[in-house]
Amino acid sequence: MKVGIIGAGAMGCLLGSYLAQQSNEVWLIDIWEEHIQQINKSGVTVKRPESSIRVKCLATTKAEDVGPCDLVILSTKYHQTRSAVQNAPSLMNDSTFLMTIQNGIGNVDIIAEYVDSRQIVFGLTTLGSVLSGPGSIEVTFVKGAVTHVYPLRDAPTEGLKKIIEDVNATGLVVYLSPDVKMRIWEKVCLNAGFSVVTAVVGLNAGDCVAQPSVRELIEGLIYEISAVASKEGVSIDPEEAFRYVMDLARKAPEHRTSFLMDLIQQRKTEIDSLNDAIVKKAGAYSLDVPYNKAIVSIVKTLENTYGYGQSEYKESHLTTFAVWPANMK
Ligand code: NAD
Repeated sequence: MKVGIIGAGAMGCLLGSYLAQQSNEVWLIDIWEEHIQQINKSGVTVKRPESSIRVKCLATTKAEDVGPCDLVILSTKYHQTRSAVQNAPSLMNDSTFLMTIQNGIGNVDIIAEYVDSRQIVFGLTTLGSVLSGPGSIEVTFVKGAVTHVYPLRDAPTEGLKKIIEDVNATGLVVYLSPDVKMRIWEKVCLNAGFSVVTAVVGLNAGDCVAQPSVRELIEGLIYEISAVASKEGVSIDPEEAFRYVMDLARKAPEHRTSFLMDLIQQRKTEIDSLNDAIVKKAGAYSLDVPYNKAIVSIVKTLENTYGYGQSEYKESHLTTFAVWPANMK
């Protein structure tokens, strides 16, 4: 199988390294030149607590070098989706599928502006990985991780089933799940209801949910998200979603969410496809979502003022962020 991965970051490299180990032809496509050069020189370095391996992949900054693929995976952050997807048509013919397992809501709508919706497969994954430098990733969660996908339109074709079979032959666990939309909304509850809160309060998962005031905030966010999901035809039990988030946080109390790491490292977050997407959808349904609105304001302010040090509050806030990794228990 020939696979083109647009956005060879933490997730793109993780998927690429699995696929390439099973003699698939894997092309990693990214705008980060140093990263691409390093992959072409030494392969993708995949670090795990117990081992580190190098996996040879083809890599380029020029999508037009690649030619039509059987599977294209789009794996950028939300704010990069529009520029990235413009390269997709050159990697596709009539039988190619484009898969996205990006977090949040709205990526698929952007992709459908450029790609025939009958060729789009969407979903989510519980895999975890972080970029640790050019050509290098650290796997944070793979054993027990699952990926759920489904075609945006119609039922899965034989061609798509064969592709998923080939992906599963690599050791990844991918299901064709008709209820993928509900699963995506459940993950939105986790990301927009919990991860974002850990980032705003600057706490690891366990310390975050130990605070009653924070629990109230998480609950408020999840109830609002469920109300919007219901308008979208997806039924989510907010009490169950809240319990799930609490359990997860208590099981991995030391965990620092990627949202928190984005703020600490002063990167653009995916707030637009999470709480801000909720606020926009709620507006269209005339629903009031004050918790989500407040979270969006706070995160956007933090993003817009990265590097500012004029006010005393900001200085101490940023200093706190800067020392967090060392101080966090
Ligand atoms: P990342 O920032 O590590 O990688 C994104 C990559 O896309 C970067 O290397 C960047 O240079 C590249 N890029 C940006 N614009 C591009 C363009 N126009 N063309 C080609 N490449 C471009 O992000 P990530 O962590 O891999 O996340 C990707 C998506 O997967 C996000 O939606 C994220 O929420 C989701 N996700 C990530 C994880 C994880 O553990 N990393 C887990 C689940 C879901």
